[in-house]
Amino acid sequence: MTQIRQQDFIDSIEDALQFISYYHPLDYVKAVEQAYEKEQSQAAKDAMAQILINSRMSAEGKRPLCQDTGIVTCFVKIGMQVSWDKTDMTVQQMVDEGTRRAYLNPDNPLRASIVADPAGARKNTKDNTPAVVHIDMVPGDKIEVMIAAKGGGSENKSKMVMLNPSDDIAEWVVKTLPTMGAGWCPPGMLGIGIGGTAEKAAVLAKESLMDPVDIQELMARGAETTEEKLRLDIFKKVNDLGIGAQGLGGLTTVVDVKIKSLPTHAASKPVAMIPNCAATRHAHFTLDGSGPSELKAPKLEDWPKVTWEVGENTRRVNLDTVTKEDILDWKVGETVLLSGKMLTGRDAAHKRIQTMLDNGEGLPEGVDLTNRFIYYVGPVDAVGDEVVGPAGPTTATRMDKFTDMMLEKTGLIGMIGKAERGPATVDSIAKHKAVYLMAVGGAAYLVSKAIKKSRVVAFEELGMEAIYEFEVEDMPVTVAVDSTGANAHQTGPAIWKAKIEELEAELSR
Ligand code: SF4
Repeated sequence: MTQIRQQDFIDSIEDALQFISYYHPLDYVKAVEQAYEKEQSQAAKDAMAQILINSRMSAEGKRPLCQDTGIVTCFVKIGMQVSWDKTDMTVQQMVDEGTRRAYLNPDNPLRASIVADPAGARKNTKDNTPAVVHIDMVPGDKIEVMIAAKGGGSENKSKMVMLNPSDDIAEWVVKTLPTMGAGWCPPGMLGIGIGGTAEKAAVLAKESLMDPVDIQELMARGAETTEEKLRLDIFKKVNDLGIGAQGLGGLTTVVDVKIKSLPTHAASKPVAMIPNCAATRHAHFTLDGSGPSELKAPKLEDWPKVTWEVGENTRRVNLDTVTKEDILDWKVGETVLLSGKMLTGRDAAHKRIQTMLDNGEGLPEGVDLTNRFIYYVGPVDAVGDEVVGPAGPTTATRMDKFTDMMLEKTGLIGMIGKAERGPATVDSIAKHKAVYLMAVGGAAYLVSKAIKKSRVVAFEELGMEAIYEFEVEDMPVTVAVDSTGANAHQTGPAIWKAKIEELEAELSR
């Protein structure tokens, strides 16, 4: 019998969550580096450069990779010969305690993103608890923990299907992936769970994302099992779609495809697919009774020395003087450096603005959106001399249902976020001669360095969802939808899908 101290378990959870908030797994960093080296699409290459630079800066500054510091998901495998020194807390309570301490750590506070009463009031629990905990009793005298902090943007794109036994899984993946848009911040990984029952397939998909990135090794040695063959098949077919980093079109959409499977009912073929994003965050540790786990910090030399310079013809924009006429000649795909003041707002702020306008109350005091840009963001709290904590873009698609109202009634001329806009929103942007700009999802710490001043202007009680005024200097963005309605998330992947077909045809000649 091995005795595990409750305190060691809680301390290890806390340490692991702090660790993964700023250290990418190196296998993911190496995989993105390889993808960056071979990328031919400039927009995708630029996005990956920012992801890699952000990754190194986070490791150096010990600050979160992404402003969305995730929902804690923990797989705990407890040996049958393990006992605890105290039994006054359940495993769920211990994981929650470790989560609470990690997210409220004063040196590196993480964003609390969990809301209770999800179908109703959606009130923030303030400490990112509860975690999602999966417990397995296994043979042995140790406890193995795999812990992840999963971003909402990628979790929201999870898909599930009950296929017919004769249906082709790769076909379903390839048909489904383009419907997921870019809100999952590719390049990332796909976790696929096959078999069991509906709920078990989803758990398998999530657990598969804890495996290391090793598809290049698999390609080199060749597939031996059904799952390995399927991994290679899906990997190729998905990358051939040309979706690319951030959905801008390019050679790499996924750096690996992981699969876990279990026997299932003869009438069923449950399949779940869960993507992991540019903020891939997970750690593994084992407790054997000798004390808390000690995760080994990677060395900064392990990060690639990638630099990113904006091109000479980059457009520089003063947000304090820009007008509706100025933005008419901004072209889709163009890089723009923003300086000056912008307002922020995401789901809750938009909903409140809509209610206030519907009630005839006008905009909240201090908020004037005439000729302004709004940045969809919910930043991490600042520490030390930071102006603001990591502050990358959130998925713009969620704000689609408010966009026509915002453009019609508030004087707003542009939006900044990540991922694609829906067709009706693109039409509305064109109708109002507005623009939608895209910042790189997953490069939140890097983006925060462009923010020179920050103050809350409305809805302070909403915390990270409040409306802030940011003053930025040279914040890099890409024109994703221009005032004519040209849309980078549509044209980019279409162009790169065709180019990949051409490249493959050349190779086979
Ligand atoms: S990288 Fe994108 S999907 Fe992942 S946590 Fe950050 S914003 Fe969310």
